[in-house]
Amino acid sequence: MAWSVRAGLVVLLAAASIGASAREGVEVAPPSIASNLVSAEQVERSAAQQYAQLLAQAQAKRALAPSSHPQLIRLRAIANRLIPHAYEWNPRAREWQWEINLIGSNQINAFCMPGGKIAFFTGILEKLKLTDDEVAMVMGHEMTHALREHARAQMGKDAATRGAIEIGSALLGLGNLSRAALGFGGDLLSLHYGREDETEADLIGLELGARAGYDPHAAVTLWQKMASASSGGGAPEFLSTHPARETRIHDIETNIPKVQGLYERAEKPSKRFEPVSEKD
Ligand SMILES: [Zn+2]
Repeated sequence: MAWSVRAGLVVLLAAASIGASAREGVEVAPPSIASNLVSAEQVERSAAQQYAQLLAQAQAKRALAPSSHPQLIRLRAIANRLIPHAYEWNPRAREWQWEINLIGSNQINAFCMPGGKIAFFTGILEKLKLTDDEVAMVMGHEMTHALREHARAQMGKDAATRGAIEIGSALLGLGNLSRAALGFGGDLLSLHYGREDETEADLIGLELGARAGYDPHAAVTLWQKMASASSGGGAPEFLSTHPARETRIHDIETNIPKVQGLYERAEKPSKRFEPVSEKD
């Protein structure tokens, strides 16, 4: 490598590290390169199809909340405060057709599919009696899975495994059978995220919420509520796709000071909504 190029690189790296340390907020590793194996457009298109299917199914069962539903108005108000802070984590998010819907179901669950397709189930709002701050923390966590393309990375890893299987099948003369059996994409709704993705979603979610004016301490009470719901029998569905980590609450607590200043200086929501009770 020529000296000038090397010197240039050193300057660039120094600039990058200064930039990183000067940033206020949580610290996370760079996104997984596995996501490069599958195109973002492809993942977002397939998510949009699955989301539309889910809404159609809910609609057919009269379980899709109309825009006038007070809890849907509440979810959309909270999402509108969070979304502008999402762009920093994924520039494509500016172009996404963000959607927020509420589905009538006892499940303690919520998700955000690639491309910004968000759904909450009434069960999570009712059974956990989430405050606005806690709703913002769930939403921020879920939005992070989409923003950091955790599904895309996982599909990339699957594609890489499939590639290896295809090479293996070719060597063994097995033909296309195993390839056909594996299929593409899988079900975006039932993806299980790994430990690192979960940590990242907790931390970036904390920051998204804080910047939007929601108290980051709500992330602690949220996971405490999840834990007590699971000890009372019938574990929340949310926990089946979001593996619980023993250190989760502790990790969140140690990161709150990093976003506390952002929260204190953030413009706070002008309207607050009451948590729902099961009778509503
Ligand atoms: Zn998660």
